[in-house]
Amino acid sequence: GPFGTLRTMVTRQYEETRAVNGVDFTVSAGELVAYLGPNGAGKSTTIKMMTGVLVPTGGLLEVNGTVPWRDRERNAMHIGVVFGQRSQLWWDLPLIDSLALLGKLYRLPGVAYRRNLDRLVELLDVTPFLHQPVRQLSLGQRMRGDLVAAMLHEPRILYLDEPTIGLDAVAKVRMRDFVAEMNRDSGTTVVLTTHDLVDVETLCDRVVVIDSGRVLYDGKLADLKARY
Ligand code: ADP
Ligand code: ADP
Repeated sequence: GPFGTLRTMVTRQYEETRAVNGVDFTVSAGELVAYLGPNGAGKSTTIKMMTGVLVPTGGLLEVNGTVPWRDRERNAMHIGVVFGQRSQLWWDLPLIDSLALLGKLYRLPGVAYRRNLDRLVELLDVTPFLHQPVRQLSLGQRMRGDLVAAMLHEPRILYLDEPTIGLDAVAKVRMRDFVAEMNRDSGTTVVLTTHDLVDVETLCDRVVVIDSGRVLYDGKLADLKARY
């Protein structure tokens, strides 16, 4: 079926800038792909289109079998997103209240909400700060809270935009372990942007490299390293 899959051949023009110029690749269910490229390459712009918050100016895009910006609400039910640079959670609410609100937005039955919450809270060791407002959390805690929120509704695709940026060494290892576990045990498709090559080496077999809005390389990390 289409769940967990992603097909892109998409273009996005801002006034004069063609930020994304026919970025073309396919991701199969259960893959863990590193999406790499220098600053300004077009990664954020493509991810915004994949998550349905930005409308392309051309091309095709299919996520979980749907067109994300046309069916934004349904798309949101099957994806999770974490931005290392900023939280998606309500800043002033206790973390647990944000999670409860999200559970309602996703229309999770109480049993599923509690089961998923308990599992994620334990995996990510979130209990010690579950009742603190997000603005009081350290970066590492905030990222763990964001991960619980992103995985609460068992999404088929998880987008991670610089998920280890600013984390200390221990927090980076925990983050990678968690992502690997979600991919292995739940079969979650993962698309990960990062500037940390260790993230790529520990997590991803496949890398897609873009620059100037085009795919430069799509293949195994080992082959890419052999080439350069
Ligand atoms: P990356 O995430 O790889 O750093 P972006 O997708 O953020 O790249 O940016 C791609 C290009 O599009 C850059 O040249 C950037 O300046 C431009 N760009 C991004 N967002 C906008 C916007 N809202 N308006 C105009 N240009 C933008
Ligand atoms: P990111 O790449 O993670 O989105 P940036 O700092 O590059 O972070 O961009 C922050 C915001 O500014 C984004 O929403 C992006 O779309 C927008 N942006 C980026 N480049 C430009 C630009 N050249 N002109 C206008 N907006 C831009």
